[in-house]
Amino acid sequence: MKGLRKIAPYVAGAQPQEKNIIKINTNENAFAPSPRVIKALSDFDANNLRRYSSLTNDDLRDALAKNLGVSRDQLIIGNGSDDILALAFLSFFNSDAPILFPDVTYGFYKVWAELFRIPFTEVDLSDDFEIVTSDYIGRDNGGIVLTNPNAPTGIHKTLDEVEKIVAANQDMVVIIDEAYINFGGESALPLLKKYENIFITRTFSKDAALAGLRVGYGIGSPKLMAVLNAVKNSYNPYSVDMVAERLALAATEDVAYYAQVNHEIAETRDWFSDELRALGFDVLPSQTNFILTKPAGISAADLFAFLQSKKIYVRYFGGTTRLSDYLRISIGTQDEMAKVVQVIGDVF
Ligand code: PMP
Repeated sequence: MKGLRKIAPYVAGAQPQEKNIIKINTNENAFAPSPRVIKALSDFDANNLRRYSSLTNDDLRDALAKNLGVSRDQLIIGNGSDDILALAFLSFFNSDAPILFPDVTYGFYKVWAELFRIPFTEVDLSDDFEIVTSDYIGRDNGGIVLTNPNAPTGIHKTLDEVEKIVAANQDMVVIIDEAYINFGGESALPLLKKYENIFITRTFSKDAALAGLRVGYGIGSPKLMAVLNAVKNSYNPYSVDMVAERLALAATEDVAYYAQVNHEIAETRDWFSDELRALGFDVLPSQTNFILTKPAGISAADLFAFLQSKKIYVRYFGGTTRLSDYLRISIGTQDEMAKVVQVIGDVF
């Protein structure tokens, strides 16, 4: 047939549904959502669903604006941050110059660039998996996309370094994907006061333990927001459902709960990293709720298969890239990670 699109899709992490597994393959939060979220769900009046959801998500934007110290009109809400990122690609990257993003980073950027026919250049990381600031300065480009902390490396870039990139590219939009920022990184939020060309994306999927709810958001200047809203309203105006908005609002109102559970995850991450290092594994320094590790004494592929046989699901990217020697392991509860350490110890 004519006109059918040919595209290699993004391969998302597997979502095994079995019971009694340790599922640490897609960076979900180890803990339950806030008790306030659970109460908001049981209090929700299903009669309301007769109506369409909000076009502008004012309640949620107001609550987020308060927490983040920005104004409501600097925020846009979407169906997960994937929705916001895809919208941003459509809205901001319409020049002939290639957009830049690292090789290695979140795999979806390349897929969106191909899907939306946006020219792109992948910029190598350094030998130790760092994003090299100078590679994004003085180079012809139609925009830049960085994840900070980067995924799947977990490595964080300081605010000073991010600012150098934003300041040197003021004619194009620099997207900073902060999906994992609340596990220890330094946010680019302060740059919003100085630069109109920065767009920050966040998600409720990781630090708010709501991956199944599908809510994400973006933060940027009114100039960028006007374009995003125009594209959103030409495409999928009711992208956030009413239940999701209500529950995300409840999560936003429980900063204390999330600060505590995410602190615990960061502590478990550091403990787990040290345990793997003691076995001789290379573990990249992570500021997220996952680690990237190169096993010692066993290949990544073999360890992946062994763990799976013990019902422990981690992420193996396979292929022939530089990631093929590594496993990405999300940080579960302390008990789960202690079990993982014990099972890995049994291999030797
Ligand atoms: N950005 C990064 C770096 C991610 O790892 C993910 C999750 N896979 C997302 C964005 C998208 O998350 P969500 O759509 O669940 O908000």
